[in-house]
Amino acid sequence: MNLEGLRALIRDIPDFPKKGIVFKDITPMLKEGPALRFACDQLAENFKGMKVEQVIGIESRGFIFSPVLAYQLGAGFVPVRKKGKLPGAKEVVSYSLEYGEDSLEVHLDAIKKGTRVIIVDDLLATGGTAEAVVRLVEKLGGTVLGLAFLVELAFLKGRQRLQNYPVHSLIQF
Ligand code: AMP
Repeated sequence: MNLEGLRALIRDIPDFPKKGIVFKDITPMLKEGPALRFACDQLAENFKGMKVEQVIGIESRGFIFSPVLAYQLGAGFVPVRKKGKLPGAKEVVSYSLEYGEDSLEVHLDAIKKGTRVIIVDDLLATGGTAEAVVRLVEKLGGTVLGLAFLVELAFLKGRQRLQNYPVHSLIQF
């Protein structure tokens, strides 16, 4: 497997979830063992030796990769979830998406002050979601070492909103 092979396994679904959006569907890639392993290995490679203590995963598709990276790096996994899903005391942040607006939450006691974390999602579009999660993590005192995405929609320039942090993506469109 290589990056070109990975790229070929990402499929465009036009007009999903609404008209005008070209949805990047990663499920054809996820179902292939060598591709899934290669993607996870490549993402983790960027952070080896950086003493990552926690991997912050963004619901929903960020949850596919973040626990794998946590396992690979010997780190813990912290879920950032959509509104109303976490049972305990939490911190909230609002964000805007390529298609809509919402808020995200994390447990107040999930990240201790000074903890070295990375943030993981499947796809970087406008960067609104990732930027909100950076704010959320920093509100709790976490140190953001970098962010990792499988796919980057480079034409949306999401990276510019994250310019103070190392941003890694495997496949750019
Ligand atoms: P953004 O906040 O604009 O960077 O959007 C990133 C979030 O929305 C990620 O959690 C993605 O899973 C999802 N997303 C945005 N645009 C797309 C797209 N074209 N295809 C698939 N997922 C997308």
